[in-house]
Amino acid sequence: PLQMSDLNKEHRICVCVRKRPLNEKELLVKDLDIVTIPNKDLVMVHEPKQRVDLSRHLENQTYRFDYAFDDITTNEMVYRFTARPLVETIFERGKATCFAYGQTGSGKTHTMGGDLSGNSQDCSNGIYVFAAQDIFLLLKGPKYRDLDLQVYVTFFEIYIGKVFDLLNHKARLRVLQDQNHLVQVVGLQEQEVKCTEDVLKIITLGNSCRASGQTSANAHSSRSHAIFQIILRRGREMHGKFSLIDLAGNERGADAISAHRWTWQEGIEINKSVLALKECIRALGRKKAHTPFRDSTLTQVLKDSFIGENSRTCMIATISPGMASCENTLNTLRYANRVK
Ligand code: ADP
Ligand code: MG
Repeated sequence: PLQMSDLNKEHRICVCVRKRPLNEKELLVKDLDIVTIPNKDLVMVHEPKQRVDLSRHLENQTYRFDYAFDDITTNEMVYRFTARPLVETIFERGKATCFAYGQTGSGKTHTMGGDLSGNSQDCSNGIYVFAAQDIFLLLKGPKYRDLDLQVYVTFFEIYIGKVFDLLNHKARLRVLQDQNHLVQVVGLQEQEVKCTEDVLKIITLGNSCRASGQTSANAHSSRSHAIFQIILRRGREMHGKFSLIDLAGNERGADAISAHRWTWQEGIEINKSVLALKECIRALGRKKAHTPFRDSTLTQVLKDSFIGENSRTCMIATISPGMASCENTLNTLRYANRVK
């Protein structure tokens, strides 16, 4: 029977999976699509018909999530079922977080940030923009307009435990905890936004900052967590906050997909933050659970979003369909399965 506690948990945490289509590279080498979404909440990973690597035995595996999105589902549809239900939370004095988790190249940035470059034929908005659009709609709507709220955004990244401000030339910022155990990113730029166009400009600015400066920009961005926050304020007082997080790639070691080997430090740090994140999300669904915020910079800066009475989280696990990504896909599904 459905228990009250189940209802509460289901309400506060939503875990979904999104499969992307085979890309041109994969089609060219005739990689096999081993992932099927037979139902709106099921993911199946198959035994391929032609064995590619006989040393690895892969059983058919089925995983169930709150939602499973197939490779023709649009960003807007994914948004409707994942982040959209969390938007009201921040108007009701709550904290919302939405994560994209998966290997490099599986679609995390496509889902969260969309493709705003205008270079690709698939120029589309992601969850950042859809969320901002709905927040501005609600702000002007009859239910909340009398609250007299202002909207601010922040955009920063965490790389090997260090915080860099993407709205301020990648300035290195310190994370401090005060006597009341409140965590602060000191000097983080908060920019006021009045409309969706303002938000688009800031995302574009942050993205270009993210890709600049490093010797190997691609490798760097796949190993850092990008955090985009939409904050509602009433004067100086924070009313609610929505954190949208494009996590570092979860593949490890000398991966065929990443151009560079992971450094030992990068591997350790990302493992640590992803494990701490899992525990923090799980603690949201349970009363009196120990929550290991201090284990990573990521969970430290998200602390206030995990402890509030009115906190809700959604995780979108992105997966590649190809046989070549099988190992990473199964790791992603197992992790997402444990977050539930
Ligand atoms: P990640 O951020 O996880 O490393 P990206 O979001 O950069 O991966 O995606 C890698 C490539 O695949 C990009 O060119 C992106 O446009 C494309 N892609 C990802 N997901 C989809 C999807 N659902 N539909 C179409 N193309 C996608
Ligand atoms: Mg990315």
